[in-house]
Amino acid sequence: MVNVINSNIYKKVYKKIKEYNQIIIARHIGPDPDAIASQTALRDSIRLTFPSKQVYAVGLGVSKFKYYGILDKIDNEVYNDSLLIVLDVPNLHRVDGIEGLKYKEILKIDHHPAEDIKGPVDWTEESSCSTCQLIAELILNTPLKLDTKIAGNLYLGIVSDSDRFLLSYTTPKTFKVVSDLLIKSKVDFTHLYNYLYDRSIDEVRFQGYIAENLMVTENGLGYIIIPNDKIKEYHVDLATPSNLINSFNFIREVLVWTFMTEDVKNKGYKVSIRSHGPVINEVAAKYNGGGHKYASGARLNNEEEINSFIKDLDNACEEYKRSSISNIEI
Ligand code: AMP
Repeated sequence: MVNVINSNIYKKVYKKIKEYNQIIIARHIGPDPDAIASQTALRDSIRLTFPSKQVYAVGLGVSKFKYYGILDKIDNEVYNDSLLIVLDVPNLHRVDGIEGLKYKEILKIDHHPAEDIKGPVDWTEESSCSTCQLIAELILNTPLKLDTKIAGNLYLGIVSDSDRFLLSYTTPKTFKVVSDLLIKSKVDFTHLYNYLYDRSIDEVRFQGYIAENLMVTENGLGYIIIPNDKIKEYHVDLATPSNLINSFNFIREVLVWTFMTEDVKNKGYKVSIRSHGPVINEVAAKYNGGGHKYASGARLNNEEEINSFIKDLDNACEEYKRSSISNIEI
């Protein structure tokens, strides 16, 4: 499968990988399956193709994602002569584990709107459903090797970030890449879903708590402030609300929905936002955040910011509704 439009960037990335003997692969803080799976899949593919290269996947390990592969612990000096490949994150301050370290060159592969990470080779494709889709394209279109484990990781990253091929970033190309991945590797993909969707009864009950307590405004904003007490009461963690947020899609009365979760350690609120229409990443950017047009995150520091954030999102819903009505009238 050769994609003519992208063949140039595949070549450039492959050439850079070939050039270096030491490669470090990083991704964003608070990783999700797309971030972790793209990281371990690319590392394992480079190792398989070039056994003599030293390739590491760095960042804080997350025990529930250990299926995707164990991350590497390396000394800071290793960075000095390395190519640093950054996946699934556009801003330097959100790259996990590289703060203050010097590396030879940086190369980014990502599907978020571009921000401050700029290297001689930069592959930013906002129309891609996931970073795993980009890594799969790279492997399928260059001499980089694929095995069943690598293909399975990429498949799970794609399924997870596209929310099972349901979000609008899913394109015919997504299906083509997935089809090629499955044909080439013979992954038994239905067996893999446990790694993505297995959850505890506590988490299901916590989802019930959110459903019971979600406030919905007249303009179609669904929001909830989740205090730390509730996180403890339901035996879940700070990452759980963002794992659950996609389950609140397709609610007739809700256009945009957001969960603001108290983060006691960092003294503030971790925020997840999703949208069924209005663009939300511009609002997120106003509140220490960013992300995609319809799936973003932010951080809030106090009640005043919470109130103004809710107001901004509610206004975005109102404006979207108004412009949708006037479009119909035209
Ligand atoms: P989440 O709700 O945590 O799944 O995040 C949704 C999207 O927003 C992901 O693409 C994240 O990388 C991005 N994101 C989350 N939090 C932030 C933040 N504080 N700054 C920039 N992007 C973020």
